[in-house]
Amino acid sequence: METFEKASIRKSTWRKILNFIASSDYPTPYLLLDAAVIREKAGIIGKGLRNARTFYAVKAHPAREVVELIASLGLNFEIASEGELRLLREVGIGPERIISSNPVKSPSFLREAKEFGLQYFAFDSAEEIEKIATFCPDAGIYLRVSVPNEGSEWPLSRKFGVEPDEALSLILMAVDRGLSVVGTTFHVGSQCNNIYNWQTALDKVASIWEASDKKGVRMKILNIGGGYPIRYRRDVAEIEEIERLIDAKVIERFPPDVEIHVEPGRALVGDAGVFVTSVIGKAVRGKENWLYIDAGVFNGLMEVLGGIRYSYIVGSRAPEKRWKLAGPSCDSLDVIDQDIVLPEPMIGDHLLIASAGAYTISYASEFNGFAIPRTILI
Ligand SMILES: *Cc1c(COP(=O)(O)O)cnc(C)c1O
Repeated sequence: METFEKASIRKSTWRKILNFIASSDYPTPYLLLDAAVIREKAGIIGKGLRNARTFYAVKAHPAREVVELIASLGLNFEIASEGELRLLREVGIGPERIISSNPVKSPSFLREAKEFGLQYFAFDSAEEIEKIATFCPDAGIYLRVSVPNEGSEWPLSRKFGVEPDEALSLILMAVDRGLSVVGTTFHVGSQCNNIYNWQTALDKVASIWEASDKKGVRMKILNIGGGYPIRYRRDVAEIEEIERLIDAKVIERFPPDVEIHVEPGRALVGDAGVFVTSVIGKAVRGKENWLYIDAGVFNGLMEVLGGIRYSYIVGSRAPEKRWKLAGPSCDSLDVIDQDIVLPEPMIGDHLLIASAGAYTISYASEFNGFAIPRTILI
């Protein structure tokens, strides 16, 4: 297995992976997560921003040991559901370290969150103001603003967020209802390769802050969401570079005492993960070579449906061929890649998938009886 560098797996991670595979007979598929990489990323994200707090978006990878590791690094958490809240409670994380940026929350979640003592919730509608006023009247709330998602591989703006012309009336409605409006949030889209999205978003949000200030509502929390990219096949912008742009824009347009909240999911855990799968079948269909592995769209590789394209590694030294790569289930949607070039592996050989730490296991189901792969921290 020589192409780990091309798949941008660190040498130290690669050594750990080979050791693990050699010394365990754990059945594939499973996901190895290098704790050292998560530590390294936690040491970078948010560090280029003044007065910033980092909240891990739990949905990216909610395995308990991942949450425990991230908690031990002093980070905070962003959640959307009772399930995520219960997980954090079990791990022993206090309410002051948890926010919920999901603009539409269920009444039962709000009830449970209030009971536990959560303070901060996002909103983007009159209905949500009513719900929060009913269940969490003492909360601090922040408005989700719709921002351009161009250039992000996994857009998140279609479902949530208000335009500036509605923003002020919603802020004033919330204040009228007795709620404390503390700031705004947005999401530039996940795996955002357009570094200027953050600048455009911040300009849009700054005008809302100014309008709000004129009406006597002083905000203090500028939540910039997630979206920092990781390398799958192509180089992406460095986090340091993105944060330099954000920091400059914040200084230009926001009050000096503004508190930044950043919510990384993918960037914190994505490139720490390597999916270990096995080749279970091969076939020639017409002119196409098909390769089947024991992980697929339904048990871990869901993001290929939205256009994420992974890097693959096999140990074979046989001649290269073009393949269609497919998962194990009987569903025709379960195709992982339409066109990859790999040396021909044998049945039973491992096939490794790089940068698979985020939005893989968290999406996995037991469809067709294939188990949800386990996460193992190494
Ligand atoms: C999913 C999500 C994130 C994390 O996004 P990434 O692109 O994985 O960094 C952050 N904030 C909110 C509100 C989210 O829904």
